[in-house]
Amino acid sequence: LPPAPVEALQRADAAALLPVPGAESDKYRRGVVGVAAGSARYPGAAVLAVAGALYGGAGAVRYTGHAAAEVVRRHPEALVTEDGPARAGRVQAWVVGPGGGADAERALREALDTGVPVLADADALTELARLGPAATAGRPAPVLLTPHAGEAARLLAGLGEDADAEQVAARRLWAARRLAAGYGATVLLKGSTTVVADPDGRARVNTTGTGWLGTAGSGDVLAGLAGSLLATGRTPLDAGSAAAHLHGLAGREAAGRGGPITALDVAAGLHGAWAGLRAP
Ligand code: AMP
Ligand code: MG
Repeated sequence: LPPAPVEALQRADAAALLPVPGAESDKYRRGVVGVAAGSARYPGAAVLAVAGALYGGAGAVRYTGHAAAEVVRRHPEALVTEDGPARAGRVQAWVVGPGGGADAERALREALDTGVPVLADADALTELARLGPAATAGRPAPVLLTPHAGEAARLLAGLGEDADAEQVAARRLWAARRLAAGYGATVLLKGSTTVVADPDGRARVNTTGTGWLGTAGSGDVLAGLAGSLLATGRTPLDAGSAAAHLHGLAGREAAGRGGPITALDVAAGLHGAWAGLRAP
């Protein structure tokens, strides 16, 4: 792998990455993020990804999938359809995969075909591991992959690398860079420390999180959040590292002095985390 810098993202760096709407800004100029997630079996993942997307700076969130009723009930702000990414209308970035189940395959293919930036998480990563790097490498628009260690191990197997989740966690920087180079995509490798790596090897490390973030649905919120930042025109490296930073702060804020939190608590903490970062 090429020698490339590793940066520890500081508070001021993260703050500078957050979009601020101009006086003449409107919802379309702020970016529309599409979320293709959830299924009859896992409707909650859709609700959580949309929650993250609503707090990521995009002007509107468009949802497609089989959890539209649940999404609208929890988030009346979302625009919903069941038609899939190819017919969902204009978006500036797609988030595909959380709780997607069997739908994830079609959603991933359609999203990659739209030509806008795509964030793939969860079931879309399982699908990508099966398809192999040809599905993403060489695509003109950027791709951001957000695996946890287990998903990263499956993706590495698609590159012919034999490493289990524990080995991935022990060699995070190597794993993130190897995946980024192999899939031609930016890779946000989740865990106690989050590494975001570009295909050229450039990487950023984030440590704002807390162990309380290791809770079901927490990654779905992060996927929506990072995708929303991607829709505002941030590069995958900037969107991913700012999202990891905010998500970690929101988790800490939600946990307070310590105690269990839910993924919805993390989403609810995002506004405060954002405002705190922007404060002088
Ligand atoms: P997922 O496994 O997809 O639900 O994502 C879990 C989220 O929680 C990721 O953003 C992880 O980085 C974060 N997380 C999990 N465990 C920890 C930990 N021990 N310390 C900090 N963040 C964590
Ligand atoms: Mg996940």
